[in-house]
Amino acid sequence: EPKKDRSESMTLLQPDENLITRADVDENFKQEIMDAGAESVAVCFQCGTCTGACPSGRRTPYRIRGVVRRAVMGLKEDVISDDSIWMCTTCYECQERCPRGIKIVDIVKIIRNQAAQAGYMAQSHKMTGLFVTKTGHGVPINDATMALRKSVGLDELPPTTHQFPEALEEVQKIIKATGFDNLIGYNWETG
Ligand code: SF4
Ligand code: SF4
Repeated sequence: EPKKDRSESMTLLQPDENLITRADVDENFKQEIMDAGAESVAVCFQCGTCTGACPSGRRTPYRIRGVVRRAVMGLKEDVISDDSIWMCTTCYECQERCPRGIKIVDIVKIIRNQAAQAGYMAQSHKMTGLFVTKTGHGVPINDATMALRKSVGLDELPPTTHQFPEALEEVQKIIKATGFDNLIGYNWETG
């Protein structure tokens, strides 16, 4: 009888580098999220309603149910290094529908804060941060927006740094005091 080719079964016995082990678990991570104000994370029962409601997840690899699950499991590095967490638009669709009343958006924000501190902030968010630092606005106003504001009876310029340019100094003071300038790599000399 010919010898069986065992190469395929041997391959299956190789360690899977995607396998989660105890070394990947940060025991404090779930507690950190709870302490930061999202104590409700612990009662998630993984129903998936949040992912079903998420408009961002329909167009991107982002799956909020999995993010919550991995946070509860303490997979800190895995979650904060996940590029998809920056695809949440903070629209609150998931939070309004969660049957457990979990503060899902707070969880996303806390995870993003930790991701930013660890150097994982998405480039697009850094660019928005640069606009805020330079102008006081994430999205500076343009002619079309000014015309739209006027057409609905508003001042062409909103009551922000656009109307009060002197307030930019206060915005920049906050950015320096919080260290946000370091997170986005802003250079005050070169701009
Ligand atoms: Fe968990 Fe709420 Fe999402 Fe259901 S909807 S998986 S309970 S976070
Ligand atoms: Fe999805 Fe974020 Fe909106 Fe929730 S807040 S539905 S996670 S995009």
